[in-house]
Amino acid sequence: QSKLSGRNTYSFFTQEMSDVMLRRLEIEEQLNHALQRDEFEVYYQPKFDVKSKKMIGAEALLRWRNPLLGNVTPDEFIPIAEHTGMIVPIGKYVLKQSLAFLNDWNTTHQQQYTIAVNLSPRQFRDKALISFIAQTLRDEKIAPHSLEFEITEGVLMAGNSYIDDALENLHQLGVKLSMDDFGTGYSSLSYLRQYSFDILKIDRSFISGITEKKEDLDLVKATIALAHSLDLSVVAEGVETHEQLLLLDELGCDLVQGYYFSKPIPAEDALDFRYPAN
Ligand code: C2E
Ligand code: MG
Ligand code: MG
Ligand code: MG
Repeated sequence: QSKLSGRNTYSFFTQEMSDVMLRRLEIEEQLNHALQRDEFEVYYQPKFDVKSKKMIGAEALLRWRNPLLGNVTPDEFIPIAEHTGMIVPIGKYVLKQSLAFLNDWNTTHQQQYTIAVNLSPRQFRDKALISFIAQTLRDEKIAPHSLEFEITEGVLMAGNSYIDDALENLHQLGVKLSMDDFGTGYSSLSYLRQYSFDILKIDRSFISGITEKKEDLDLVKATIALAHSLDLSVVAEGVETHEQLLLLDELGCDLVQGYYFSKPIPAEDALDFRYPAN
């Protein structure tokens, strides 16, 4: 009896493991062709200035629809693409699409919006990264300060000199650097001191608690004060309710983004997006 259940547990375990590995392999295999089969689409989530309530730009978020696997979330495929190196061509695709969209968007609204693109650790190892960014900015006639790169601590933790160089070169190029998911890593504070960030993005896990948990509220309050003392502007991500927005306004948060305003939407919808609707 005990032997049998032990065996069942064992085989169940291996089954589960091989399912996970199979899924990973399938994703890896499908990712290899996804670009040339045109399976990616860049969505945009608008960002707003808290004080003026005006839309100031958007974050580019990648979507993948594969005929075999259906929709795969970025949280699942990005780490795999990083591992295999596919993130390098995929990242170039995201940047090109985003800047072409920004060009369209600015023209349509007669505005100077900003676009934020997420950058993965692996992309920093690409020697041609900086020149590619510079070229794409020229191609789309976008001013460098209208482009922002969101970087999580994972990038910095790799702690290599090429990362320091790349960040310095990005800074020199005039693009903005934003520390994404602030507060979720181990050494956010020391990285803030070490590198020239322009923007601090508070992780949504803190924002979701600010109207209920005093600890979260205090943390967000302190983070905003810290950021401002370092001359960084602050973005709150994952704003879902009006109460959260009011509180963030009171705390002096500069920019907001979240489902309360809009989910990430396709380019054609983002082009027409108005808030409040008018
Ligand atoms: P992130 O950069 O922190 O992006 C924010 C995530 O939070 C997005 O998930 C967005 O859809 C979600 N979100 C925004 N507002 C709300 C809200 O009010 N409530 C809730 N519950 N969620 C909200 P998404 O699009 O699934 O992206 C997940 C992560 O995948 C991103 O986290 C980013 O790290 C990565 N990612 C997405 N696109 C790219 C890309 O083009 N390149 C790279 N390197 N990473 C990407
Ligand atoms: Mg981001
Ligand atoms: Mg984030
Ligand atoms: Mg994130």
